[in-house]
Amino acid sequence: MKLKSLFAGTLCVLATCPSYAQNLDREIEGPLHTVSGREFQTYTEYVDSGLVGIDPLRCISHKAVAGSFSGGADCTLGFTNPSSAYDPVEIIEINVVFHVLRSTSGTQGNITLAQLETQIDILNEDFQGLAGTPGANGFNSAIRFKLADTDPQGNAATGVTYHDNTSWFNDSGNYWSSTSWDATRYLNIYTNNASGSLGYITRFPQESGAGTAVDRVVALWSTVGRNAPYGFPYNQGRTVTHEVGHYLGLFHTFQSGCGSAVACYTTGDVICDTNPESGPEFGCAVGSQSCGSTDPIRNYMNYSYDTCMQNFTQEQSARMRCAIEHYRPLVGTVIPGGLGLPYCEVVSNSTGLDAVLDASGSSEVSMNDLQMEASDMPMNQFGYLLTSQTQGFVASPGTSSGNLCLGGTIGRYVGQVQNTGGTGTFDVPVDLTMIPLSPPVAVQVGETWNFQVWFRDQLITGPTSNFTNGYEIMFE
Ligand SMILES: [Zn+2]
Repeated sequence: MKLKSLFAGTLCVLATCPSYAQNLDREIEGPLHTVSGREFQTYTEYVDSGLVGIDPLRCISHKAVAGSFSGGADCTLGFTNPSSAYDPVEIIEINVVFHVLRSTSGTQGNITLAQLETQIDILNEDFQGLAGTPGANGFNSAIRFKLADTDPQGNAATGVTYHDNTSWFNDSGNYWSSTSWDATRYLNIYTNNASGSLGYITRFPQESGAGTAVDRVVALWSTVGRNAPYGFPYNQGRTVTHEVGHYLGLFHTFQSGCGSAVACYTTGDVICDTNPESGPEFGCAVGSQSCGSTDPIRNYMNYSYDTCMQNFTQEQSARMRCAIEHYRPLVGTVIPGGLGLPYCEVVSNSTGLDAVLDASGSSEVSMNDLQMEASDMPMNQFGYLLTSQTQGFVASPGTSSGNLCLGGTIGRYVGQVQNTGGTGTFDVPVDLTMIPLSPPVAVQVGETWNFQVWFRDQLITGPTSNFTNGYEIMFE
């Protein structure tokens, strides 16, 4: 397939790796393609044109797999060890700052705060595989994103800055040197015309310069957020998802082509649970094969359409968590104390908040002291705990305005109805020897159970009930 072979080599960050670009030049016969009426004979010419990425190139972030294990970590440029040490047992939270670079008149490149918030939502949906969202089919990496609420000096902030400078809007000038927020602590995402691409990064976490002002994600402004103005096929925020994947150490699924199936942690994309692929997918050819197995068309680290992309894998999650731990330790804040992981999309209740379900006690069956804790609910309402071994998703079941995040056989703690009282909270002790199914069952070591709280919410018009998030616990 010609298109795949065209891009089979390793590409470069902008035009900084001429040897690779030259290798690619030798693979091209005839014009690469025509963009805006201009024909490009070579890949380098195309990259240098400022039109790169308009069609069909999604991203210009590229790095040679180093083939070296140096650095002492489990996720160097040439090696991944997806050990259980990088399982998503704790939430890692990343503070994001968007720098919106607009034309000097402010008329080009504007993105509203509300639109940027939808991009944060998309990152969370995609990196956590949130049920009921377009990211639901992905692995939950337990990496969470939020707009930074304080700036580097500790002042209250929205997590968004605006700059009106046509040169910067055109991705020229060292705009980062005067605008970056401490890149050891913040993920800096710049939006502008991205040098004609959809997006790129400037440093993989393992590279020198990571954590300095130059270290950033750049995204084409019109692709940012949900239903972004770019329009189909790059308007559902997956450009930023893809670039943040790079920022956390992931290569393209087609990195170095097919690589070696037996050395998949040191060749290709240095990940084994993404099938090898000879070159990028630009559409959504689900089921295609280029290296003897089904291509990972739906992976965020491919070039597929936004609506086609659906997942990171478990090993990509491990590599990203490893990269944060070893190379971006201050960017990711570990949220301590959780026994398990929250999951699923919450609908805000009449308080304007998302009701939260958390846990305390122990996930050890022998301790049998688990307590589920629900908060941010309306006052003086009743509710009860639900549990199931199966996660699911039903939007607004019955008269609910929230989302049921359990599937399969659901146990209801109707014998332990609680009241939210004057604080909008309640705790539910869970007897692990008596899960309320019919007949009751005991939790066994190694089992995973999911919990959620349903509560009345009589202050809202229409539906009169609501749900917290789901909460998943693996018992030991
Ligand atoms: Zn990319």
